[in-house]
Amino acid sequence: MSATVTPLISATDIQARIHALAADIRRDNPDADLHFIGVLKGSVFFMADLLRAMSGTVTMDFIAVSSYSGTKTTGEVRMLKDVDRGLQDRHVIVVEDIVDTGLTLHYLQDLLRARGPKSLRCACLLSKPSRRKIEVPVDYIGFEIEDRFVVGYGLDFDEHYRHLPFIGTLTV
Ligand code: 5GP
Repeated sequence: MSATVTPLISATDIQARIHALAADIRRDNPDADLHFIGVLKGSVFFMADLLRAMSGTVTMDFIAVSSYSGTKTTGEVRMLKDVDRGLQDRHVIVVEDIVDTGLTLHYLQDLLRARGPKSLRCACLLSKPSRRKIEVPVDYIGFEIEDRFVVGYGLDFDEHYRHLPFIGTLTV
């Protein structure tokens, strides 16, 4: 693939921010058993590092949705894989790689809220506020970025670049 990745957020900065987010999440839910739901596939590295930075009792599950093809949104959200466990009376934290238009998170919040969790919060590593089409509450945001297509640390372009330990902008 003949494209250039220009570093935007270093691996060191990502790890430092994740440790701060983990502390914020535990501070807001001091005694709760927290049930994290990672949104595949983009959140895998964020999920793994965030959970290893958490103190207290945590459990994890994954859900998969698809809303993108290439670098353009289709605006359509499809469920590819549901969670394995029920959410009744659990304190749920949804873990997303990036909130862009907000359509995916809005869909997920409606879907998961209907399953009766005791609380439902969201942690997104990245946010592009200027791209929002729908307002969605995001409780924990790692970094706000400008309207650039980014890859790395779980984020892909046609399944490439997910493995990069840093986040960079892609020029095709
Ligand atoms: P939204 O529904 O908020 O528009 O988009 C959410 C999903 O779009 C993310 O989970 C991610 O998969 C994808 N996405 C949005 N912006 C980017 C980006 O800059 N780079 C990559 N690789 N994916 C993105």
